[in-house]
Amino acid sequence: MKTYDIAIIGGGPAGLAAGLYSGRAKMDTLILEKQKYGGQIVTTDELENYPGSIKEETGPSLIGRMVDQADKFGCTRIEDTVTDVELEGDVKILKGNKGEYRAKAVIITSGATPTNIGCPGEKEFTGKGVSYCATCDAAFFEDFEVYVVGGGDAAVEEAIYLTKFARKVTIIHRRDALRAARSIQDKAFANDKIEFMWNTTVEEIKGDGIVTGMIVKDTKSGETREVFADEEDGTFGIFVFIGFKPISAIFEGKVDMENGYILTDENMHTNIPGVFAAGDIRKKSLRQVVTAAADGAIAATEAGRYIEEMEGTAYKY
Ligand code: NAP
Repeated sequence: MKTYDIAIIGGGPAGLAAGLYSGRAKMDTLILEKQKYGGQIVTTDELENYPGSIKEETGPSLIGRMVDQADKFGCTRIEDTVTDVELEGDVKILKGNKGEYRAKAVIITSGATPTNIGCPGEKEFTGKGVSYCATCDAAFFEDFEVYVVGGGDAAVEEAIYLTKFARKVTIIHRRDALRAARSIQDKAFANDKIEFMWNTTVEEIKGDGIVTGMIVKDTKSGETREVFADEEDGTFGIFVFIGFKPISAIFEGKVDMENGYILTDENMHTNIPGVFAAGDIRKKSLRQVVTAAADGAIAATEAGRYIEEMEGTAYKY
C-alpha cells in the first residue's frame, strides 16, 4: 500500500493551507475531507477580516481558491471520513469508510462543529425552520421574521447578514451584554431591523411540520412564555450560533487533549512524534481563518522537517 509523506485530516482553511505548504515543498500529500471543503467558513457570507479580503469575498469564494491552490501543488484529495487512527510508529495508519491510508506524518485539522441548544424540538425542526447556517438558509426567510440565538461574533454577524432577507431579526441572548467584538456589536445596534431579547433562553421549539412557535425563558425571573409566528407568515426562522465543539472523538486517548481540543506546542506538534494539529481543533485563543491558515502552514513545515530528520532528506519549504 502507498505511504504518503503527509496525510491531512480535514479540508478547512487549516488543512488546505497545510496542503499548499506541503505540496509546494514537494511532499506527497493527501488531504482527506469527509464532506465539504471549507469547514465552518463555507457558512460565512462576508469575510472582511481575512487579510487582503476587502470586497465581495465570501467563505466559499476563498475556499474555492484554496482548493485550487492545493491542487496546483499536487495534493491528492479524497473525500472520505476517517473513523480510526493508529498514530504511533513511523508509519501512521488512517482508516476511512472507503479505505485505509498510510503516511509518515499526520496533520489533524478536523475543526469544530456548531453547538446545539439541546432543547425539545430543535432536532425535529432542523431544516424546517431551525438552521445553523445563515448563508445556506437565509433566502428561505425573505420577508419573514427570524430569531438568532447567541451573543458572540457569529450570532451578531449572521444576524446582520439575515437583515438582508428577513423583515425583522431578533437576537436572543442569555445575558444582557453581547460577547461579540465591539465593532460587530456597533453595526448590529445601528441596524433598524435588529431587535434584542436579553436574558432569554429558548426552552422548546414547536411546530407542525415547520416551526410555528417557541417557548422562551427569562433567565432572571425564570418565567417562560410562548412566542408565536405571525399569523400571516405561519412560521419563522431560528438560527442558532452558540459556539462550537471540537471534532476530535477519534483522537480520544491517542493524542493529548483538553476538553476535546488537541494540545500542541507553538509549532503545532502534538505529544506524538510525527502528529501535528492545526486550526480550530487546537487548544488556542483565537479561532479565525487567518489563524487556521497560519497553523496549517506551520504544521506542514514542521511535518516536512520531521520527515527530513527521520529520513535524512532535504526539505524545501
Ligand atoms: P462564542 O464566541 O463562543 O459565543 C457563543 C455565544 O453563544 C455566547 O454569546 C454565549 O453566551 C452563547 N451561548 C453559548 N452556549 C449557549 C447556550 N447553551 N444557550 C444560549 N447561548 C449560549 O462562539 P461564536 O460566536 O460561534 O464564535 C466562535 C469563535 O469564532 C470565536 O472565537 C469568534 O471570535 C470566532 N468568530 C469570529 C468572527 C469574526 O471575527 N468575524 C465571526 C464568527 C466567529 P455567553 O456570552 O453568555 O457565554
